[in-house]
Parts: sequence; C-alpha cells; structure tokens
Amino acid sequence: MKKEDVLKMLGTDENGLTQNQAKENQKKYGKNELAEGKKKNPFILFLEQYKDFLVIILIIAAIISGVLGDIESAIVIFVVITINAILGTVQHIKAEQSLDSLKEMSAPTAKVIRDGEIKVVEGKDVTVGDVVVIEAGDYVCSDGRIIENASLKVDESAMTGESEPVEKQETVLDGEKPLGDRVNMLYSGSFATYGRAKMVVTSVGMETEIGKIASLLKSTQEKKTPLQESLDNFGKKLSLIIIGICVIVLGLELFRSDGINLTVFTDAFVFAVALAVAAIPEALSSIVTIVLSVGTQKLAKENAIIRKLQAVEGLGSVSIICSDKTGTLTQNKMTVQKIYFDGQIIDKDDEINARQGQLIIDGALCNDSVQKEGQEIGDPTEIALVNFSEKHDLPVEKMREKYQRLGEIPFDSDRKLMSTVHKIGDNYKMLTKGAVDVLSGRIDEVKTMDGKRPFTAEDLAELKKVNTEFSQMGLRVLAVCERDVDTVDISVDDEKDYILLGLVAMQDPPREESAEAVRKCKTAGIRPIMITGDHLVTASAIARKIGILDDNGRAVEGREIENLSDEELDEFVSDVSVYARVSPEHKIRIVSAWQRKGYIVSMTGDGVNDAPALKQADIGVAMGITGSEVAKDAASMVLTDDNFATIVKAIENGRNLYRNIQRAIQFLLSGNTAGILAVLYASFMALPVPFKAVHLLFINLLTDSLPAIALGVEPHSSDVMNEKPRPKNQSILTKKVLTNICVEGIVIGVMTMIAFYVGFLRNAEVASTMAFSTLCLSRLVHGFNCKSDKPVWFTKKMWNNKSMIGAFFVGFVLLNAVLLVPALQGIFAVAPLTIAELLTVYGLSLGTFVIVQILKMIRK
Ligand code: ATP
Repeated sequence: MKKEDVLKMLGTDENGLTQNQAKENQKKYGKNELAEGKKKNPFILFLEQYKDFLVIILIIAAIISGVLGDIESAIVIFVVITINAILGTVQHIKAEQSLDSLKEMSAPTAKVIRDGEIKVVEGKDVTVGDVVVIEAGDYVCSDGRIIENASLKVDESAMTGESEPVEKQETVLDGEKPLGDRVNMLYSGSFATYGRAKMVVTSVGMETEIGKIASLLKSTQEKKTPLQESLDNFGKKLSLIIIGICVIVLGLELFRSDGINLTVFTDAFVFAVALAVAAIPEALSSIVTIVLSVGTQKLAKENAIIRKLQAVEGLGSVSIICSDKTGTLTQNKMTVQKIYFDGQIIDKDDEINARQGQLIIDGALCNDSVQKEGQEIGDPTEIALVNFSEKHDLPVEKMREKYQRLGEIPFDSDRKLMSTVHKIGDNYKMLTKGAVDVLSGRIDEVKTMDGKRPFTAEDLAELKKVNTEFSQMGLRVLAVCERDVDTVDISVDDEKDYILLGLVAMQDPPREESAEAVRKCKTAGIRPIMITGDHLVTASAIARKIGILDDNGRAVEGREIENLSDEELDEFVSDVSVYARVSPEHKIRIVSAWQRKGYIVSMTGDGVNDAPALKQADIGVAMGITGSEVAKDAASMVLTDDNFATIVKAIENGRNLYRNIQRAIQFLLSGNTAGILAVLYASFMALPVPFKAVHLLFINLLTDSLPAIALGVEPHSSDVMNEKPRPKNQSILTKKVLTNICVEGIVIGVMTMIAFYVGFLRNAEVASTMAFSTLCLSRLVHGFNCKSDKPVWFTKKMWNNKSMIGAFFVGFVLLNAVLLVPALQGIFAVAPLTIAELLTVYGLSLGTFVIVQILKMIRK
C-alpha cells in the first residue's frame, strides 16, 4: 500500500496520534509486550523448599519416630522445617521482586510522535498508529511501515537469521513478498545499525512477527552466577564428607547402645540425619542471591543499573577499566573556543565578519541538534555549534527554514563525518563537517576573504599545525567544508573535492570527579585506560589532566594495532594508557588482549557498533543517557549518569558485596564446624550425644540464617579500595577464610563442650541443654566476630549494622524463650537451668567473642 493509505487506514497521519487516541488504541490493541512465561505461584515455591533430599529423609525419619511413639519431637521437627520453608519462600520472592524492578529500570524505550511532538515512552506503551522515530542504535519495538527514510539499515537477524544489515526504503512493493524482502517494513526485535527513519506502527505485542514466534519459545530461566555454581559444587562435596561423618556417628551410637531395637535405631537415625541437615550449608546459594539482589538495589541508587547478576560478582575483580572519553571522563558540555579561517585564528569573543560567519552557518545547518523551550536536544558537539551561531547573532531557526535540508548522510563514528544537502541560491550545496584528519586529504580549494583559491601543500601544513595547536589545549577540532552537487541523493562517494571553510575548536572540560576516581583506581590496583574516537593530541591532553596518562604510559592511535598479530598486541597493550581515533573493532581487540593476559576487563560503549565489545568484556558498561538501546542490551551494567566515577564506585560496591558474601559463608561454616566437632568429640569420648535432633534444627534453620543475611548487608567500607583486585580464578574460600573457619569452629566447639561438662556435673539432660544453648548463643555472638578481620570490640564498627543487632536480638529472645518458658522446654527437649548455669552459658558464649577478638589482635 502507499504510505498515505496505510496512515489513513490506521487512523493517523505523519504527525502521529494524539495522547487521547494513543490511550484508546492501547486499550484496543493491548500493551506492546510479549507474553512472559508464568511466574511460579508462592505455594509451589513453598513446596519446592522441601525438595532437598535430606529434608525429605528427615521428614520420613520424623514420621517413623512419631509412629513409634515420639510424636512430640516429630511435630517439632516438622514445625521447624516448615518455618524454615516459609522463610525460604519469602526470601525467594523478595529476591525475585528486586530483580524484576531492575528489569523494569532497564526496560527499552521508544521515540514516538504524539500531539505532533517527539516523546520518549516505554516500549510497552507504543501502540498501533503511533509514528516512531528510529535512529542508529535503536531497537525496533513493534512492527511498522516506513513513512520516511534517511539511509536506514537494520539488523533483522533475530527474525531472518541474516546477519548482514538490510537497507530499508519508503516504497510500494508489488505482490506478496517474504519477510526478509519487505524493505518498506520494520519488525520488532530488529535494530537500526545506521541512518534514520520514521515508521507508523502496524501491530504490537503478540501480534508482531516476533510475537508469533515468541509464543513458541519457552520462558528463559535465570541462570546461576559462577559464584553460586561454585558454591553449589562445594556444597555437594561437603555434603558427601558430612554424610560420611554422620554414618560414622550413627555406627558409633548403635555400637554403644545396649541392644538394637527399632526405637533405638530411629532415634540414632533421626539424629544422624538432623546432624547432616544442620551441617550441610544448603542456604549458601540462596544467601548469595539475596546479597546480590540487595546489592543491585544499592548500585541502582548510585546510578549503576545491573542487567546481569553475574556482573555484581565480577565487578569486584575488575583490574582494567577501558573508558570512553567524551561524556564519561568529560562533562560532554561543549563550547566553541576558537575558529580558524583562511590563515587566521579568531577567539570566541572576537568580532566575526560575514565571510567568516559562513563557516558557523554551515556548522549549524549540517547539524541535528534542536533547541526547544529552552531545552537543548542532541549531540553536544552540535549544540555547541548552534549556541555559537546564536551568540554571534546568526539565527539558526530562520536559516534552517530558508535553507531546508534536502538530503543527508548521518554522522557515524567510523567515518567521523556528517553531510547534508541544501538549496542555496540556485545550486544544491553539500555541507560536511567532521574530523580534520579525515577531511584534510579531500580538500581542493579554500575559502578566503575575497573568494576562494586552490588548497596548497603549505595550506595543508598550516591546517595540520593549527589542528595540533588546538588539540594540545585539549580542544575538539572539527573541519567544515562544502561543495556543489547535482543531486540531493548523495552518497559517501561524494564526500570529497571540497572547499574548506575553516576549523571550529571546542572545549569539553573533564568532569570534576574524574581525577579523584582515577586516583582511586590506581590505589585499588585498577588500570584506567582511555579509548576514544577523538584526536590523539586532544585525548592525550585531557588524559594527562585527569591522571590517566603519566610518564609510564603511552598514547597511540587505534590504527597502530591494526596490523599486529594477537601475540604482538598482547605485548603492545601493556603500557598504552590512551587509544585515540579508535573504531569499535579496535575495542574488541584491546579487550581480548587484556583478557588473554588474565585480566578482568570492563569496557564502556554507547554506539550500536560497540555492542560486540561490550559483550566480549567481562563487564560491559553502557551509557544510560547517550547510549543506544542496542549497547544497553549488550551491556551487563548501565550507567544512568554516564559517569566514569560511577564505574569506580560500582567496583567498590562489588568488592564489598563479595566480601560480605565471604563473611556470611565464614559465619555459617565455622558454626557448623563447631557443631560437628562437638558431636564427633562426644562420640569418640563415649559421652552421651550432646544435642538432640531438634536442637540442631533449631540452631541451623532458625537462629543462624538471620545473622548470615545481616552479614550480607554489612555496611560498605572504602578500605576495600586499598587492596589489589582479587585474582581471576581465586575461590571465595581462600586459605585465610578456611583457616578462620577451622580456628573459630574449634573455639566455639571447645566452649560448647566446656558447657557440656559443666552441665554433666548435674545430669546428662542439663549437659545437653547447656551444650545446645552455648552453641546457639556463641554462634549468635560470633556474627559480630565475622564483621571484620580486624578486632571490632569497643569500636563503632561493632554497632554499625542494625540488621546484625536485630538478628542477634531475635535469636537471643528465641533461645531464652525455649530455655525459660516451661511449655517450650518440653517441646524443645531442654532441662530447666539454674541461674548459675544460665550465666555460665552466657559467659562461655561471650568467651568465644573475647577469644576470637584476642586472636585477631594477635594476628594483627
Ligand atoms: P568517545 O569514544 O570518547 O565517546 P568521541 O565521542 O570523541 O569519543 P566520536 O563521537 O566517535 O568519538 O567522534 C569521533 C570524531 O568524529 C570526533 O573527534 C570528531 O572529529 C568527529 N565528530 C564527532 N561528532 C561529530 C558530529 N556530530 N558531526 C561531525 N563530526 C563529528
């Protein structure tokens, strides 16, 4: 159909829908969303908490012992496991919710024309009849018919499998065509790699071509992060060992009993299984999820949106940050400082005559930025040109009306040029602006005060000299050229044979935070590297100012790496701190080289061509403000403020989160070790079993998980930035952590057995009660030990985590309820303690804290 007919049929026109029409259509056609796989309902989630093999065995064993007469303890075991399952379900749902809200934050947006104005809306609010503006780097969010086209190229590989971008046209096709040949249509799920176009939306959501395929696709499951996987593996190995220990304990118990009957066997069996449940840290993997998802919320507040959970773990070990310059290290607020015209340098505040003014007018015409209601929209380089023009009383809007744009080749960072065609006088004129080094070889003539003359070798030398001079001041320099053309349909082959109008040099000051962030990186053993499309000299000047480039580093141009083999490149990258005039392909090679050398690399990017490098990097970072949708989609982290300092802050967070997970693990495993040691000791010394099954379950399933989670949200400290990055393949259970687990496990175990012996002075029941309560309380107290490697007592550090204090308080109250409330004493198989015994329990538990703190002091 003709585009007019399409628009008419959809009840819209080139100015798009009104806001009211859009609302009506949204009601009629539904949200522009693909139906997602159904979420699991909470009840199923709850049941899934029981699917752990040992828990099932425990329940069976409890039922058997219930049938044999010990109904009370069967019920208690069941209740404790159920409470644990409820806690697990709640945590799961919370973690899921926080991940969902992150997804929402990084949901794609679209530019639609409503009420005649361009508005950015969420992709899901786009509706049939909307006119959508698509630019290089945008995702196409729904199916639509092209109504205006400027060299748009689209990657449709999601639908057709064809990876070469397809050129689109505003045209009428004759007859039925297969999807890949419908050049006048755009399809949801594809993305623009080049150019610009407008389309009118023809279908949304599940009605789009991708929607028809999507209904066949299964919902994708969240993958486990590498840390979760390695902890799962560790957990499995540990389980085998623990089960071995439990079998030995069971054997010893049976061996020592007076005669084996079913009751004796089930009792011993229930205990052995409870010991296994208690000692195996099933919660590790879910603690990691909780800590990571809470961490992502904190990161989001600090302007870093995490798109892949793995990134949070990886962040802590980043050792190389490759960063863009413009907008990331600098403010991206450009102002014109100087111009150069026919051998003359003119300062920004100097008078400009009409001949020289042509340079500025052309720069403002070959320009996509707009000023509306005091707002400046567009590329800061172009905004600077418009502002400069206005400053010198050359009204841009009027000129744009008078010399309308008839053709264009959009800017792209590979060509580093932008061209437009206008009718000026009787001729079509092509205006081009772009990088001086790209244009300088394509100039035939130069405009002068009284006409024009041939561009000589001396002119070229002078041009280069001025360019270097400007660049050394850290200025971005653009050349502006023009030429006559016969047609408005220009192509990149026409970008030659120019008349030079002159140069414009603009300043983009570094961000205030950049120098400090670079300094922080260096103390943290992280190497910042600038990778920019800008000129070598400009880039070096800025890099020096903020500290990225010093006497130990070099600055090179991207093309220098083009002919190097991978091995040569690996050598080459070592001392390079600045890469200038870089193309997206160079970025991938630089990332890969550092990765081959064993470093964890983060790389920033904004353009559609940056997506492969962002995917290749360990942590791909996309710009939230200037970044294209495609770059954001490929990245594992999006910066909402485009700021280099935010990357450094995110790394600091990543390191802290990793350390908190380490602390939680240390806490859980050292406590479990203590329990096992006590049981083993008692078994080998032929003492009665120090705990009942319910005791172990009470500690491990109820009072232990809260301090572990509290350690996961331990306040962050900037100390982590004084250390070197963690080596790539280092296990989270470092030698230091394992030593701590053993030593602290022994300390708690010894205190527990001392309590046992004290209780034994009265009888076995009291002994068991005292051992249980000392183990429980020591572990609660031990939470404070795990806060830091340094001694924390009497410091502010001890009290700076409210969750930890809360967790301790809850555990303490629960334990004392069990010990002191007569009804609970029976249920939890504890004997009433005398005041002296109770104080002994408190004292011994506090003793673990004091001893561990002293050990820390000695180690320091
Ligand atoms: P970074 O990679 O640090 O973001 P950048 O933004 O300077 O670098 P590009 O935007 O790719 O990199 O620009 C590369 C070069 O292209 C610039 O040095 C300039 O010469 C030229 N250039 C930039 N913007 C425009 C534009 N709007 N029109 C014409 N030429 C431009």
